Amino acid sequence: TGETPSRKRVLLKVSGEALMGDGAFGVDQKTVERIANDVADVVRGGVEVCLVVGGGNIFRGLAAAAKGMDRAQGDYAGMLATVINALLLQNALEREQITTRVMSAIHMSSIAEPYIRRRAVRHMEKGRVVIFAAGTGNPFFTTDTAAALRAAEMECDVLLKGTQVDGVYSADPKQDAAAVRYEQLTYMDVLANQLNVMDAAAISLARENKLPIIVFNIGEPGSFGRVMRGEGAFTQII
Ligand code: UDP
Repeated sequence: TGETPSRKRVLLKVSGEALMGDGAFGVDQKTVERIANDVADVVRGGVEVCLVVGGGNIFRGLAAAAKGMDRAQGDYAGMLATVINALLLQNALEREQITTRVMSAIHMSSIAEPYIRRRAVRHMEKGRVVIFAAGTGNPFFTTDTAAALRAAEMECDVLLKGTQVDGVYSADPKQDAAAVRYEQLTYMDVLANQLNVMDAAAISLARENKLPIIVFNIGEPGSFGRVMRGEGAFTQII
């Protein structure tokens, strides 16, 4: 076909839970490898990809606070959990011969570069996969907000949220047989109806920056590539 226009740049948010596979906690190595393989396929297809990874498979500040832990301290522990996940994804991607950089919002110079926006952009221009670790670096935020923030900073064309469900439904599809998947929603639909997609801070940030969000099931092998081709099931928020 014709000449390629400037390359597409996307941010994929991988929730911590997506790394658990069938487990209830922690990391399933096979699942990490499979997700890395999916990411590698998209990168080899010529797309600039950066990743934000969550930490909920290991530690969540809010859940710890509910049991009496100081919230901010718990959130810092949660951010460190995302760094563990980032290193695992980095390793799995490099086994796919993909060049990567982990950039952490909390300085950890022995294992990750400090996050510097202009350096991150440069890495992406060179075709490296940048894995953003430690969320925003601030307690009281989530990695969803970090994903919207980094996607805006990197001027991504789209933010893809990889979850365990293939989009946003009118009700919980596991509880309600009549639940339907929305093909498209507006940011305001999500905010006004408090749809459980991403927190309000993340949605607002995406809205202000006209950053489209796509919600899809990363648990399905190959789904990232399919969604990038506009195939398969997903919900688009614009
Ligand atoms: N976190 C934080 N600030 C951030 C991002 C994350 O404090 O900018 C903490 C927070 O405690 C959160 C935990 O890190 O519960 C893990 O991230 P998240 O829950 O977003 O992960 P996911 O749900 O994607 O697995």
